[in-house]
Amino acid sequence: MKLKNYINGKLMEPSSQRYFDNFQPSTGKVYSQIPDSDEADVDLAYQAAKNAFKSWSILPKELRSNYLLKIAHLIESKLDQLAMAESIDNGKPLKLAKTVDIPRAAANFHFYATGILHYASHAHSMEDTAINYTLRQPVGVAGCISPWNLPLYLFSWKIAPALAAGCTVVAKPSEITPMTAYLLSEICIEAGLPDGVLNIVNGYGSKVGNAIVSHPDIPLISFTGGTVTGKHIASVAAPMFKKLSLELGGKNPNLIFADCDYDKMLHTTMLSSFANQGQICLCGSRIFVERKLYERFKNDFVEKTKALLVGDPLDDKTKVGAIVSKQHQEKIMSYIELAKQEGGKILCGGNVLKLVGNLSEGYYIEPTVIEGLPHNCRTNQEEIFGPVVTITPFDSEAEALSMANSTIYGLASIVWTENLTRAHRLANQLHAGIVWVNCWLLRDLRTPFGGVKASGVGREGGFEALDFFTEPKNVCIKLT
Ligand code: NDP
Repeated sequence: MKLKNYINGKLMEPSSQRYFDNFQPSTGKVYSQIPDSDEADVDLAYQAAKNAFKSWSILPKELRSNYLLKIAHLIESKLDQLAMAESIDNGKPLKLAKTVDIPRAAANFHFYATGILHYASHAHSMEDTAINYTLRQPVGVAGCISPWNLPLYLFSWKIAPALAAGCTVVAKPSEITPMTAYLLSEICIEAGLPDGVLNIVNGYGSKVGNAIVSHPDIPLISFTGGTVTGKHIASVAAPMFKKLSLELGGKNPNLIFADCDYDKMLHTTMLSSFANQGQICLCGSRIFVERKLYERFKNDFVEKTKALLVGDPLDDKTKVGAIVSKQHQEKIMSYIELAKQEGGKILCGGNVLKLVGNLSEGYYIEPTVIEGLPHNCRTNQEEIFGPVVTITPFDSEAEALSMANSTIYGLASIVWTENLTRAHRLANQLHAGIVWVNCWLLRDLRTPFGGVKASGVGREGGFEALDFFTEPKNVCIKLT
């Protein structure tokens, strides 16, 4: 199967006519071909988006909203097809795609289709002298670039607010997981989205991504991905004075106090450690446990981890699917080797897992728990982004906080305690854009989403995203 770009309302071949292979992580086999697009395709997409902006940006918001609602409904009606595509393309359990990824993609469109109807701007009265009011105008053609871990979920998290705000879009999904973005283009055609409003260009980050970021007439970039890529993008976009939203990597701490609700904590910590093979930017990969609970936690957690069924993503019983690519599997394994060199003790896992039959060439790793590492070693400081966690005891809240805050990252933190005062205190002091207390991945789409330090710049979610995709303009009217 050959995927196509979606430009000016049509499915198109890349101008180079070249394609590259798309691998199915669970089998390691090639199952489709991805357009190897380049600058010429991005420019075509830009021209289409620029033309479409003239009418889309002034379309009454109720009509823009209707298009987004149609897309949301189509995503819901194709849940099974989209979930299957996501699972095959990414290696994630089908059940996860069905219950989290695809419903959330539909929710993103729903949320911004209705959110835009409630979006208001400010007025500042100077009593009898003047009145100021703020217009919020769509910025223009938005560049949206997303990663492979939650493909349609994160792609739509950018596209929906951009379109709702009146921007038109040139978007690039990760080259590793382009399938549901391709299916989204078919959905947009079915929904009758006007030509050029959304354009999806497939291909490598270094070509297509770079062409979007460096395009002189694309004034804003919304990017989710790794910190190193984000740094590069900022270095290209900032001197061009582009508006930038960067959602980057994380190395999130999970702080477990002895007074927590133990069973709830254990259940959720399994998810925050290994859901999506640990490939969620919000996973809690550094687990800090109060010393008096440490041995009990360690024994239960390791036992539960050993019992996790790693296997065929399409099997409903599977808890942990395939790693997204061979290259990423190798990266994760290199970190497990590093952990050993740094003196870490592998309590369970630590190996590549060879499955049988059709899955024998797939990319699997045993869920891995490591102890005995100092909090400041590389394993505990660098993002691994796989089914690998470290566990570390602590004696005091101050020590836990200091270890939690010791990385360059600051995306999410998790705190388990029944002590409300402590929960508030830590929520205040943790370096993170999100603090979950006694829960994980509980999301209200109205809340600001993003990180501090090397985890990013800016916020997505709620009206913050609509603020990003619009430019405020103050109008001052003298009254006398
Ligand atoms: P990458 O940074 O490698 O890639 C992200 C996207 O950027 C891909 O579409 C990629 O294309 C593209 N890209 C690569 N190079 C360039 C370039 N020079 N210019 C423009 N675009 C480029 O991240 P991954 O896909 O590996 O995703 C994993 C990372 O994403 C992790 O670090 C994770 O923490 C982070 N992440 C952050 C989230 C957050 O909300 N903060 C949420 C989810 C993930 P291609 O794939 O074709 O190379």
